[in-house]
Amino acid sequence: MFIRHPLRLALLLVSLVILVSGVSFSAYRISQRMALAELQATGRHRLDLYAASLEREIGKYAYFPATLGLERDVLDLLAHGSDSKLIGKSNNYLEQLNERAGTLAIYVMDNKGQVLASSNWRRTDSYVGEDLSFRPYFREAMETGSGRFFGIGTTRSEPGYYLSSALAAEGHILGVAIVKVSLEQLEKSWSTVEAPVLVADENGVVILSSVPDWKFTSLRPLDEKTRSVFDRTQQYNRRALQPLGVIEIASLNHGARLVRLAKEKQEMVSPYPVAGQFMAQSQPLLGTPWSLTVFSHLDQVDDLSISRAAVAGITTILLCILAMMIKQRRRHLSDRLMAREALQKAHDELERKVEARTVDLSATNQKLQDEVAERVRAERTLRAAQDELIQAGKLAVIGRLSAGIAHELNQPLAALRTLSDNATRFLDRGDEPTARSNLERIAQLVDRMGLITGQLKAFAHKSSGLPKPVDLRQVVANATALLDQRLGTTNARITTVFPEQALSALCDANRLEQVVVNLIGNALDAMSDQACPSVNISGAVCGQMARLEVRDHGEGLSPEAQSRLFEPFFTTKEAGVGLGLGLAISAGIVSDFGGTLNGANHPEGGALFTLEIPLAAETPVP
Ligand code: ADP
Repeated sequence: MFIRHPLRLALLLVSLVILVSGVSFSAYRISQRMALAELQATGRHRLDLYAASLEREIGKYAYFPATLGLERDVLDLLAHGSDSKLIGKSNNYLEQLNERAGTLAIYVMDNKGQVLASSNWRRTDSYVGEDLSFRPYFREAMETGSGRFFGIGTTRSEPGYYLSSALAAEGHILGVAIVKVSLEQLEKSWSTVEAPVLVADENGVVILSSVPDWKFTSLRPLDEKTRSVFDRTQQYNRRALQPLGVIEIASLNHGARLVRLAKEKQEMVSPYPVAGQFMAQSQPLLGTPWSLTVFSHLDQVDDLSISRAAVAGITTILLCILAMMIKQRRRHLSDRLMAREALQKAHDELERKVEARTVDLSATNQKLQDEVAERVRAERTLRAAQDELIQAGKLAVIGRLSAGIAHELNQPLAALRTLSDNATRFLDRGDEPTARSNLERIAQLVDRMGLITGQLKAFAHKSSGLPKPVDLRQVVANATALLDQRLGTTNARITTVFPEQALSALCDANRLEQVVVNLIGNALDAMSDQACPSVNISGAVCGQMARLEVRDHGEGLSPEAQSRLFEPFFTTKEAGVGLGLGLAISAGIVSDFGGTLNGANHPEGGALFTLEIPLAAETPVP
């Protein structure tokens, strides 16, 4: 939509209406003026044409009556009066002449106004003998030598144009010759013209017209004097001579007038309009006192002006729409241009930002790469340090282990040395019982040393082969059997809870038995002061692991024991009872199987050791 604001739209519409009305009205007026000018020119042309034809028609007979003066018989008749022979001759002559010339009548009158001979002498209503001295054409001819007269015949009421000429001999007027011509043919030729035309005499009486009804009407009111002349001369044979009803509206230049003709004449006769508004143009006819008037109808002027005004109005509307469209198009183009510029600007800005970011990014990227390289370097350094630490840790363990071993073995070795020296001395003295007692002590010490080395051997012992599925229930049963004697002496009881289906873990059965024996042994140690100690062992599947829990009802793990549980040679037991290697070795074995060993206190008292080893494939996972 061009305009969104209703007030602006209303204003624009009002302006458009005013503009279109103004242009249409101007176009109407200009077109009307032009059309009137055209019509006037056409009217003038018609006037010239009709006047020429009428003048030619009348002019044809102008000298005709005078030629009768050349005829001897006619002159003799006029000179000698009522000679029947001359009358007969003249009548015949006039009759023949009338026929040849195609006139209405030809007759001669003596200088008193009496008709002596006539072309219509044969007819009963012949003019012969009639006194027509009252006719103006007679008087004019007598006075001026010739006369012109349009009138209606007194005998036959036939309108005609009378041309008269005085006939003289030896300077004396003998009579008058008259030729009466009909202008009907001319009138008939006018009846087909588009614009009504009329000829009015000097009194304004219409004597010829293309519209028959207009004939013998008057263009202007006739005064009494004129009417009495008409009565006397019987020019129009006492016709009523009603006014034609021409109302002048305005006078235009060059003698043209805008007139209105009465409506009631509309239905009459002519195929062309004979009522309404006309442009009337008049012109005097040469050689007569008459005037010729042409009426050009203004309908076509109005139609033309209205259609031109409509065309101008529509053209204005179209031009306005075109102008609005051009304006809208320009605005649209400028909007697009502005939008494009804005877009270009945004694009440039974006590109600038992207470029800046790219620079930033590459800087950041470079920074990141540097950081990554730095981290890799740090990681390598860290790993190297870690390796070194591990190595150091291993060495420390070995050191501690060696120290422990040295400590554990040095004492018995020193004791062995002392005991063996003493035994030798006692044997030298012959104190055999003391020597024996010393030897027994030596044997005990060797056993103890054997125990230490045995455990170390177990620690050093690696898996016999690839891990294979081991039934945990069976492992617990074997371990319990190994401790059977001790269980019997301590009155201890072991309860086991296992799932119905087999619980198999991937490991080495003997080494796992060692772990379980160690856990049960520790449990029994923790409950050594109890009369009926009990150990609860349960097996279960936990995810992809087989879980074994060993719980006792002793004092539980002290805080120190909890933190150093798997440390080699950590023990709270008396010398000779514990070496502090059991849990360290057990954790190592379980770790070899890919499992874990944890010790904690049970919420209801006692210690709880949890062992998890990967399930063997044959164990169904619940
Ligand atoms: P040892 O049994 O030779 O002392 P271990 O490595 O088996 O060596 O045990 C280390 C220490 O952990 C024990 O001395 C004891 O203090 C503690 N301990 C192990 N098992 C238990 C248990 N079930 N209850 C209480 N303390 C325990």
